[in-house]
Amino acid sequence: MDDCLFCRIIAGEIPAAKVYEDEHAIAFRDIDPKAPVHVLVVPRSHVDSIADLPDTLAGPMLRAIQAVAAREGVAEGFRVVTNHGPEAGQSVFHLHFHLLGGRRMAWPPG
Ligand code: 5GP
Ligand code: ZN
Repeated sequence: MDDCLFCRIIAGEIPAAKVYEDEHAIAFRDIDPKAPVHVLVVPRSHVDSIADLPDTLAGPMLRAIQAVAAREGVAEGFRVVTNHGPEAGQSVFHLHFHLLGGRRMAWPPG
């Protein structure tokens, strides 16, 4: 999708600090980090949000999250968040899992 920010990052048209990639997913650092580790794990193919995630990508996305957590040194404790829809705070409409770690997390989230 030409007008999708994350599709453009995946295509290499917009720079990002990439930390991981595989056949299905890529991961790059959030531009406005909310924790010492704040990585966005996104499917290579355009999916609007978790509400449209196909079965074929569900497992691979979770495996990618596990791999990024290990690579970032936070496998002992991390949080995964995905926002679906403006009500939940979604601002980029290409599915992304926020992987947050490196500090103590509060609960409940805001
Ligand atoms: P959402 O609000 O949709 O759950 O999350 C979107 C995330 O994308 C935000 O945390 C925001 O900081 C991040 N973001 C927005 N624009 C860019 C960008 O151009 N590059 C990177 N790396 N992250 C971005
Ligand atoms: Zn996209």
